[in-house]
Amino acid sequence: KAKENGANHYQFFDQSMVDQNVNKFELENDLRNAINSKSLTVFYQPKYNATTNEITGAEALARWKHPRHGMIPPGVFIPIAEEANLIVPLERLIIRQVFSQLVAWKNRGFEVPRTSINISIIHFYQEDFVKFMQHTLKEYDLYGELIEIEVTESIMIKKEDSINSQLQALREIGIEVSIDDFGTGYSSLSYLSKLSVDRLKIDQSFISHSQENREIISTIVSMATNLKLKVIAEGVETASQIDLLKSLGCQEVQGYFYSPPLPSNEYETMMNKQPQET
Ligand code: C2E
Ligand code: MG
Ligand code: MG
Ligand code: MG
Repeated sequence: KAKENGANHYQFFDQSMVDQNVNKFELENDLRNAINSKSLTVFYQPKYNATTNEITGAEALARWKHPRHGMIPPGVFIPIAEEANLIVPLERLIIRQVFSQLVAWKNRGFEVPRTSINISIIHFYQEDFVKFMQHTLKEYDLYGELIEIEVTESIMIKKEDSINSQLQALREIGIEVSIDDFGTGYSSLSYLSKLSVDRLKIDQSFISHSQENREIISTIVSMATNLKLKVIAEGVETASQIDLLKSLGCQEVQGYFYSPPLPSNEYETMMNKQPQET
Protein backbone atom coordinates (compact mmCIF):
# COMPACT_ATOMS: atom_id res chain seq x y z
CA LYS A 1 0.00 0.00 0.00
CA ALA A 2 2.76 2.39 0.97
CA LYS A 3 4.51 1.67 -2.29
CA GLU A 4 1.40 2.66 -4.23
CA ASN A 5 1.17 5.90 -2.25
CA GLY A 6 4.76 6.71 -3.10
CA ALA A 7 4.11 6.30 -6.80
CA ASN A 8 0.81 8.14 -6.68
CA HIS A 9 2.39 11.35 -5.47
CA TYR A 10 3.53 11.87 -9.04
CA GLN A 11 0.53 10.64 -10.97
CA PHE A 12 -0.20 13.99 -12.62
CA PHE A 13 3.30 14.53 -13.85
CA ASP A 14 4.37 13.48 -17.31
CA GLN A 15 8.12 12.93 -17.77
CA SER A 16 7.86 13.91 -21.45
CA MET A 17 7.23 17.50 -20.36
CA VAL A 18 10.80 17.92 -19.18
CA ASP A 19 12.18 16.24 -22.28
CA GLN A 20 11.04 19.27 -24.25
CA ASN A 21 13.31 22.29 -23.92
CA VAL A 22 10.46 24.78 -23.85
CA ASN A 23 8.89 23.15 -20.89
CA LYS A 24 12.17 22.73 -19.11
CA PHE A 25 12.68 26.47 -19.38
CA GLU A 26 9.16 27.02 -18.13
CA LEU A 27 9.78 24.66 -15.22
CA GLU A 28 12.97 26.50 -14.35
CA ASN A 29 11.09 29.81 -14.14
CA ASP A 30 8.28 28.26 -12.16
CA LEU A 31 10.81 26.70 -9.78
CA ARG A 32 12.49 30.08 -9.26
CA ASN A 33 9.10 31.57 -8.40
CA ALA A 34 8.27 28.68 -6.10
CA ILE A 35 11.54 29.21 -4.19
CA ASN A 36 10.99 32.99 -3.97
CA SER A 37 7.48 32.53 -2.67
CA LYS A 38 8.65 29.74 -0.30
CA SER A 39 6.06 27.38 -1.73
CA LEU A 40 8.14 24.20 -1.58
CA THR A 41 7.30 21.82 1.23
CA VAL A 42 9.07 19.05 3.11
CA PHE A 43 8.04 15.43 3.62
CA TYR A 44 9.61 13.31 6.36
CA GLN A 45 10.48 9.63 6.06
CA PRO A 46 11.24 7.91 9.38
CA LYS A 47 14.30 5.67 9.85
CA TYR A 48 14.09 2.68 12.20
CA ASN A 49 16.17 0.34 14.29
CA ALA A 50 15.21 -2.99 12.70
CA THR A 51 15.51 -4.89 16.00
CA THR A 52 13.70 -2.56 18.41
CA ASN A 53 11.45 -0.95 15.77
CA GLU A 54 12.20 2.42 17.34
CA ILE A 55 12.49 5.54 15.20
CA THR A 56 16.15 6.55 14.97
CA GLY A 57 15.69 9.61 12.80
CA ALA A 58 13.97 10.95 9.70
CA GLU A 59 14.97 12.16 6.26
CA ALA A 60 13.62 15.47 5.00
CA LEU A 61 12.70 15.35 1.30
CA ALA A 62 11.79 18.39 -0.78
CA ARG A 63 8.35 18.46 -2.42
CA TRP A 64 7.10 20.77 -5.13
CA LYS A 65 3.47 20.99 -6.14
CA HIS A 66 3.36 22.81 -9.44
CA PRO A 67 0.23 24.99 -9.83
CA ARG A 68 -0.69 23.35 -13.16
CA HIS A 69 1.31 20.12 -13.45
CA GLY A 70 0.80 18.82 -9.90
CA MET A 71 3.53 17.08 -7.89
CA ILE A 72 6.90 17.14 -9.63
CA PRO A 73 9.42 14.62 -8.28
CA PRO A 74 12.73 15.89 -6.85
CA GLY A 75 14.45 13.56 -9.33
CA VAL A 76 13.23 16.10 -11.93
CA PHE A 77 13.44 19.47 -10.17
CA ILE A 78 16.70 19.00 -8.22
CA PRO A 79 18.79 18.59 -11.44
CA ILE A 80 17.00 21.65 -12.88
CA ALA A 81 17.85 23.61 -9.72
CA GLU A 82 21.48 22.48 -9.93
CA GLU A 83 21.76 23.62 -13.55
CA ALA A 84 19.96 26.92 -13.03
CA ASN A 85 21.92 28.13 -9.98
CA LEU A 86 18.88 27.60 -7.80
CA ILE A 87 20.12 24.75 -5.64
CA VAL A 88 21.63 26.92 -2.89
CA PRO A 89 18.50 29.05 -2.34
CA LEU A 90 16.34 25.91 -2.65
CA GLU A 91 18.31 23.98 -0.03
CA ARG A 92 18.51 26.98 2.30
CA LEU A 93 14.73 27.27 2.09
CA ILE A 94 14.41 23.56 2.92
CA ILE A 95 16.91 23.88 5.81
CA ARG A 96 14.91 26.78 7.30
CA GLN A 97 11.62 24.94 6.89
CA VAL A 98 13.05 21.86 8.61
CA PHE A 99 14.55 23.91 11.45
CA SER A 100 11.32 25.81 12.00
CA GLN A 101 9.38 22.51 12.04
CA LEU A 102 11.82 20.97 14.55
CA VAL A 103 11.37 24.00 16.85
CA ALA A 104 7.58 23.74 16.59
CA TRP A 105 7.70 20.02 17.47
CA LYS A 106 10.09 20.63 20.39
CA ASN A 107 7.81 23.35 21.73
CA ARG A 108 4.87 20.96 21.60
CA GLY A 109 6.77 18.37 23.66
CA PHE A 110 7.81 15.89 20.97
CA GLU A 111 11.01 13.90 21.39
CA VAL A 112 12.39 14.91 18.01
CA PRO A 113 14.91 12.47 16.53
CA ARG A 114 17.82 13.56 14.37
CA THR A 115 16.65 14.77 10.96
CA SER A 116 18.72 14.51 7.79
CA ILE A 117 18.73 17.02 4.94
CA ASN A 118 20.05 16.22 1.44
CA ILE A 119 22.78 18.61 0.37
CA SER A 120 24.07 18.90 -3.20
CA ILE A 121 27.83 18.96 -3.71
CA ILE A 122 27.29 22.33 -5.42
CA HIS A 123 26.32 23.78 -2.04
CA PHE A 124 29.87 23.13 -0.79
CA TYR A 125 31.22 25.56 -3.37
CA GLN A 126 29.24 28.33 -1.68
CA GLU A 127 31.95 29.40 0.72
CA ASP A 128 29.65 30.43 3.58
CA PHE A 129 27.84 27.07 3.84
CA VAL A 130 29.27 26.14 7.26
CA LYS A 131 28.66 29.67 8.56
CA PHE A 132 25.09 29.53 7.26
CA MET A 133 24.49 26.30 9.18
CA GLN A 134 26.03 27.73 12.37
CA HIS A 135 24.05 30.98 12.17
CA THR A 136 20.79 29.31 11.26
CA LEU A 137 21.07 26.79 14.11
CA LYS A 138 21.62 29.73 16.48
CA GLU A 139 18.74 31.70 14.99
CA TYR A 140 16.35 28.82 15.67
CA ASP A 141 17.99 27.97 19.01
CA LEU A 142 18.76 24.42 17.85
CA TYR A 143 21.80 22.19 18.29
CA GLY A 144 23.74 20.43 15.56
CA GLU A 145 23.01 17.14 17.34
CA LEU A 146 19.49 17.29 15.88
CA ILE A 147 20.76 17.50 12.31
CA GLU A 148 22.39 15.21 9.76
CA ILE A 149 23.32 15.97 6.18
CA GLU A 150 23.26 13.45 3.34
CA VAL A 151 25.76 13.99 0.55
CA THR A 152 26.17 11.68 -2.43
CA GLU A 153 29.32 9.78 -3.28
CA SER A 154 30.30 12.51 -5.77
CA ILE A 155 31.78 14.20 -2.71
CA MET A 156 34.37 11.39 -2.61
CA ILE A 157 35.25 11.59 -6.28
CA LYS A 158 36.28 15.24 -5.99
CA LYS A 159 38.85 14.58 -3.23
CA GLU A 160 38.95 18.24 -2.31
CA ASP A 161 40.50 19.35 0.96
CA SER A 162 38.08 22.27 1.20
CA ILE A 163 35.08 19.94 1.12
CA ASN A 164 36.57 17.64 3.72
CA SER A 165 37.34 20.54 6.04
CA GLN A 166 33.75 21.77 5.72
CA LEU A 167 32.48 18.29 6.63
CA GLN A 168 34.82 18.31 9.61
CA ALA A 169 33.59 21.74 10.73
CA LEU A 170 29.96 20.60 10.49
CA ARG A 171 30.75 17.51 12.56
CA GLU A 172 32.47 19.68 15.16
CA ILE A 173 29.15 21.44 15.80
CA GLY A 174 27.37 18.10 16.20
CA ILE A 175 25.95 17.64 12.71
CA GLU A 176 26.33 14.08 11.37
CA VAL A 177 27.43 13.44 7.80
CA SER A 178 26.17 10.47 5.77
CA ILE A 179 27.22 9.30 2.31
CA ASP A 180 23.96 8.83 0.38
CA ASP A 181 23.44 6.23 -2.40
CA PHE A 182 26.66 4.53 -1.31
CA GLY A 183 28.05 1.92 -3.71
CA THR A 184 26.77 3.47 -6.93
CA GLY A 185 29.60 5.90 -7.66
CA TYR A 186 33.16 5.31 -8.67
CA SER A 187 34.63 6.57 -5.48
CA SER A 188 38.09 5.93 -4.17
CA LEU A 189 37.85 3.61 -1.22
CA SER A 190 41.19 4.74 0.15
CA TYR A 191 39.84 8.29 0.26
CA LEU A 192 36.85 7.12 2.30
CA SER A 193 39.12 6.45 5.27
CA LYS A 194 40.35 10.06 5.17
CA LEU A 195 36.93 11.62 4.70
CA SER A 196 35.21 13.16 7.72
CA VAL A 197 31.91 11.24 7.74
CA ASP A 198 29.73 9.32 10.20
CA ARG A 199 27.65 6.92 8.16
CA LEU A 200 27.27 5.03 4.87
CA LYS A 201 23.80 4.83 3.39
CA ILE A 202 23.60 1.70 1.23
CA ASP A 203 21.89 2.55 -2.06
CA GLN A 204 18.40 1.19 -2.58
CA SER A 205 19.37 -0.53 -5.84
CA PHE A 206 21.32 -3.11 -3.76
CA ILE A 207 18.45 -3.53 -1.32
CA SER A 208 15.76 -4.05 -3.98
CA HIS A 209 17.66 -7.12 -5.22
CA SER A 210 19.18 -7.94 -1.87
CA GLN A 211 19.68 -11.68 -2.45
CA GLU A 212 21.76 -11.13 -5.61
CA ASN A 213 23.62 -8.30 -3.89
CA ARG A 214 24.16 -10.09 -0.61
CA GLU A 215 27.97 -10.05 -0.96
CA ILE A 216 28.02 -6.36 -1.85
CA ILE A 217 25.81 -5.42 1.09
CA SER A 218 27.92 -7.59 3.37
CA THR A 219 31.11 -5.94 2.08
CA ILE A 220 29.75 -2.43 2.67
CA VAL A 221 28.66 -3.35 6.21
CA SER A 222 32.12 -4.80 7.03
CA MET A 223 33.82 -1.79 5.51
CA ALA A 224 31.69 0.53 7.65
CA THR A 225 32.48 -1.51 10.74
CA ASN A 226 36.22 -1.51 10.02
CA LEU A 227 36.23 2.24 9.43
CA LYS A 228 34.10 2.76 12.58
CA LEU A 229 31.26 4.23 10.54
CA LYS A 230 27.54 3.71 11.06
CA VAL A 231 25.51 2.09 8.28
CA ILE A 232 21.89 2.36 7.13
CA ALA A 233 19.97 0.65 4.32
CA GLU A 234 17.50 2.68 2.26
CA GLY A 235 14.65 1.49 0.06
CA VAL A 236 13.69 -1.44 2.32
CA GLU A 237 10.37 -2.79 1.09
CA THR A 238 10.03 -6.36 2.40
CA ALA A 239 10.37 -8.36 5.61
CA SER A 240 12.89 -10.71 3.98
CA GLN A 241 15.12 -7.75 3.10
CA ILE A 242 15.02 -6.74 6.77
CA ASP A 243 15.92 -10.28 7.89
CA LEU A 244 18.87 -10.35 5.51
CA LEU A 245 20.08 -6.89 6.57
CA LYS A 246 19.88 -7.86 10.25
CA SER A 247 21.81 -11.07 9.60
CA LEU A 248 24.51 -9.01 7.84
CA GLY A 249 24.74 -6.59 10.77
CA CYS A 250 22.88 -3.62 9.35
CA GLN A 251 20.46 -2.45 12.04
CA GLU A 252 19.31 0.91 10.75
CA VAL A 253 16.72 0.84 7.96
CA GLN A 254 14.45 3.13 5.99
CA GLY A 255 11.90 2.37 3.30
CA TYR A 256 8.32 1.82 2.23
CA PHE A 257 8.11 -1.35 4.38
CA TYR A 258 8.03 0.97 7.39
CA SER A 259 6.70 4.17 5.94
CA PRO A 260 6.82 6.30 2.80
CA PRO A 261 7.86 9.96 3.17
CA LEU A 262 4.97 11.71 4.94
CA PRO A 263 3.67 15.26 5.36
CA SER A 264 4.81 16.66 8.73
CA ASN A 265 1.40 16.26 10.39
CA GLU A 266 1.32 12.54 9.54
CA TYR A 267 4.93 11.92 10.51
CA GLU A 268 4.49 13.56 13.91
CA THR A 269 1.92 10.96 14.98
CA MET A 270 4.80 8.43 14.90
CA MET A 271 7.07 10.40 17.23
CA ASN A 272 6.99 10.02 21.01
CA LYS A 273 5.46 12.88 22.90
CA GLN A 274 6.83 13.82 26.31
CA PRO A 275 4.40 14.78 29.05
CA GLN A 276 3.56 18.47 28.55
CA GLU A 277 4.84 20.84 31.21
CA THR A 278 2.12 22.85 32.89
P1 C2E B 1 17.56 10.05 -1.79
O1 C2E B 1 18.14 11.11 -0.91
O2 C2E B 1 18.38 8.84 -2.04
O3 C2E B 1 16.16 9.71 -1.14
C1 C2E B 1 15.54 8.45 -1.22
C2 C2E B 1 14.44 8.42 -2.25
O4 C2E B 1 13.89 7.11 -2.30
C3 C2E B 1 13.27 9.34 -1.98
O5 C2E B 1 12.72 9.73 -3.23
C4 C2E B 1 12.29 8.41 -1.25
O6 C2E B 1 10.95 8.82 -1.36
C5 C2E B 1 12.52 7.13 -2.02
N1 C2E B 1 12.22 5.94 -1.21
C6 C2E B 1 12.18 5.82 0.13
N2 C2E B 1 11.88 4.56 0.50
C7 C2E B 1 11.73 3.84 -0.65
C8 C2E B 1 11.42 2.46 -0.94
O7 C2E B 1 11.23 1.63 -0.05
N3 C2E B 1 11.37 2.11 -2.26
C9 C2E B 1 11.60 3.01 -3.26
N4 C2E B 1 11.51 2.58 -4.52
N5 C2E B 1 11.89 4.33 -3.02
C10 C2E B 1 11.95 4.73 -1.73
P2 C2E B 1 12.34 11.22 -3.56
O8 C2E B 1 11.69 11.87 -2.36
O9 C2E B 1 11.62 11.21 -4.85
O10 C2E B 1 13.76 11.91 -3.74
C11 C2E B 1 14.60 11.51 -4.80
C12 C2E B 1 15.95 12.16 -4.66
O11 C2E B 1 15.86 13.57 -4.80
C13 C2E B 1 16.59 11.94 -3.30
O12 C2E B 1 17.20 10.66 -3.24
C14 C2E B 1 17.61 13.06 -3.28
O13 C2E B 1 18.76 12.68 -4.00
C15 C2E B 1 16.90 14.15 -4.05
N6 C2E B 1 16.36 15.17 -3.12
C16 C2E B 1 15.18 15.27 -2.49
N7 C2E B 1 15.12 16.40 -1.73
C17 C2E B 1 16.32 17.02 -1.88
C18 C2E B 1 16.91 18.23 -1.37
O14 C2E B 1 16.33 18.99 -0.56
N8 C2E B 1 18.19 18.54 -1.81
C19 C2E B 1 18.87 17.73 -2.67
N9 C2E B 1 20.10 18.06 -3.06
N10 C2E B 1 18.35 16.58 -3.14
C20 C2E B 1 17.11 16.24 -2.76
MG1 MG C 1 18.98 11.05 0.89
MG1 MG D 1 19.69 7.71 -1.33
MG1 MG E 1 19.16 8.98 -4.53
